[in-house]
Amino acid sequence: MRLSRRQFLGLTTAAGTLPILQSSRSIPSKSTAEKDGLQVSLEELNRAATAPVLKLDGISSPVVIESIDLLRKGREYFVRVRSKDGAEGIAVTNDRARYLYPILNQRVIPYFIGKDARDLESHLFGLYRYQSNYKLQGLALWCPLAWVEFAVLDMMGRMAGKSIGQLLGGVIRREVPFYMASGRRDTTPEEEVRYLARLIEETGAKAVKFRVGGRMSKNADARPGRTEKLIPLARKRLGDDIAIHADSNSSYDPPKAIEVGKMLEDINAVYFEEPCPFDHLEDTKRVADALTIPIAGGEQEYSQRRFRWMIYHRGVDIVQPDLQYYGGFIRSTRVARMAAVAGMPTTVHISGGFGFIYMLHFASCTADIGLYQEYKRGIDKYGNWFNPPLEIRNGALTVPRGPGTGILDFQDLFKGAERVT
Ligand SMILES: [Mg+2]
Repeated sequence: MRLSRRQFLGLTTAAGTLPILQSSRSIPSKSTAEKDGLQVSLEELNRAATAPVLKLDGISSPVVIESIDLLRKGREYFVRVRSKDGAEGIAVTNDRARYLYPILNQRVIPYFIGKDARDLESHLFGLYRYQSNYKLQGLALWCPLAWVEFAVLDMMGRMAGKSIGQLLGGVIRREVPFYMASGRRDTTPEEEVRYLARLIEETGAKAVKFRVGGRMSKNADARPGRTEKLIPLARKRLGDDIAIHADSNSSYDPPKAIEVGKMLEDINAVYFEEPCPFDHLEDTKRVADALTIPIAGGEQEYSQRRFRWMIYHRGVDIVQPDLQYYGGFIRSTRVARMAAVAGMPTTVHISGGFGFIYMLHFASCTADIGLYQEYKRGIDKYGNWFNPPLEIRNGALTVPRGPGTGILDFQDLFKGAERVT
C-alpha cells in the first residue's frame, strides 16, 4: 500500500505513531484536491490562531514577576524567573544566549518586570510592541522571549502542580517516537550510512534523518554525487524497516528539488525538509505541488502570518516551528492549531542540547505531531535531571513527569552559576 500525501496526513492525524508503510514502490499521481489539501478559510485559521492556549485553573491570585536573570554555568545558560511571592521557575537556553544576552537583558526582561505572569498570552504581543521590538523580529528577538516563556511556564506549572503539557491543554501522550538526526555533510555516502547505522544501534531509533545537498548552496552538493548515491544506499543498507527523512537546508531551486524529491519518493522516505531557500515560499510550494512525498519546513520562520500563508496555500505539508527560534510554546501552539484545521501535522524543529526536552512537552499535548520527532542525543546528560529519569523505550523517548518542565532540583544546577549582565 502506498499513501498519497493527503492519506499520509490523515493517518498521522489519527494515530501519531503508526509505523511508516514501506512496501510499495509505485507513486500515484496526485489529484488537484490532494495537492490543495483540505480547503480551509482564512477565518477558520485566524480563529484557531487566536483561541486561548493556557489552562491556568488552580492559580487564582496574581503572579507578579519580580526578577528575571540569565545565569551561566560552564557552557550552560539558564533563565530564572522569580515572583513577588517567592515562586521560581527556570529555562535552559540554546547556546545562542552567548550572543543574544544583550537583547534578553535590555529588550525583553524589562518588559516583564511587574507584570502578572497569568497574562502571558497577551504579553507576547505586548513584548513585540515594547520599544519597537517588532523591528528585531526573528530568532534574535524570539529566542529570548521563548526562554522567558519557558521559565514562566515552569514557575506556574510548579505552582499549579501541572506539567507544561497540562498547562497547554492536557497531556495526550507519554512516549514520543523519534528520529536520529545526523547533521553531517562531511561524509561520503558510505561513511554517512555507517554513521546512521551507528546512531540506530546506539539509541534503538526506528527512524533517521540525513542531509542532502550542500546547505544554502544554489544546487551544489556537499561533494559531487553525494546526494544521488546516498539516498538509495541508505535504503539498501538500513533496510525497509527504518523510516528515512532528508533535509536539504535550503539547497535547491525547484527543478533540482523535484529531482531529489523523486529519489526520496523511490525509497519511500517519510518527508523532505526545506527543499528550497527557506524564505522562498512560492518555490517551496512549487516543489510540494509537484511531489507526492510530504514537504516539511518552517524552522527559520518567525511570522505567524507567513505560517498562515504556508498552511492556507499548502506551501508545505508539515509545519516545523522551532520552539526557541519561533518564540516559545504558545506561539508554536497557535501554528499547530492552524495546521490542524488544514489536516497538517506540526513536527517542531529543536535547537539546543536541552531543546529536545521542550519538544517532548510540546509533543505531549499536541494532537498531530507527525510520525517521528527530532532528537540529536542528550538523554545521557539531561535524563537524570528528571524523576523518573527519562528513557528510550522501543524507539520512543519518555515525556518528563512532574510539574513545570519537570526538573527535579534546579537549585542544585545553579550551584556555581554566575549572573550574566
Ligand atoms: Mg532542518
